Amino acid sequence: MTINRIFCIGRNYAEHVRELGNAPDDAFVVFMKPPSCVVAADTPLRLPRGRGAVHHEAELVVRLGGGGADIAADAALAHVTHITLGLDLTLRELQNELKKKGAPWELAKAFDGAAPLGGWKPFHGQDLQALEFTLHVNGALRQHGRTRDMLFPVARQIQILSKTWALQDGDVIYTGTPAGVAALVPGDHAVLESPSIGRFEWRCV
Ligand code: ZN
Repeated sequence: MTINRIFCIGRNYAEHVRELGNAPDDAFVVFMKPPSCVVAADTPLRLPRGRGAVHHEAELVVRLGGGGADIAADAALAHVTHITLGLDLTLRELQNELKKKGAPWELAKAFDGAAPLGGWKPFHGQDLQALEFTLHVNGALRQHGRTRDMLFPVARQIQILSKTWALQDGDVIYTGTPAGVAALVPGDHAVLESPSIGRFEWRCV
């Protein structure tokens, strides 16, 4: 399925905002990754080498079928066609250096392989703020997300994004990560799972 643009929402779960030392009122950061970052499930996930820790951020991901500009929050979910889970991979030490310099984050967030993405599941109007998802690494639970804890629900994210970008078919949103981010290393086996979405896995190399 074609991917047009990948929008990523940062600082959308209060506990994760705190674990990185940010203030909750710094919420709603937006950045983008090129579609070439995507790594499908069951594909070897090649991690960057020699650039510090590569953190996993487990996230609910939604795909839009269009929508245009200035979408009202109460009309936003009508534009969601599919949902899945993904990892917003982050070179955390590099990101911290970039933050200190006030520089853009692309080097830390938009490298090749930075967007592992599960298979799409058609969206039929289920409550996106009542989902749970987990990330296990080598069998151990690392992250457990409950989308009711989002500071900005998906509909609100779409509304906000559409003030800046006329949303198009194939636009994808990584909706932010809960607490528990940590490093992946070569050899790790990462499993993203949600009862209502599916189970997706990657072997890190
Ligand atoms: Zn993220």
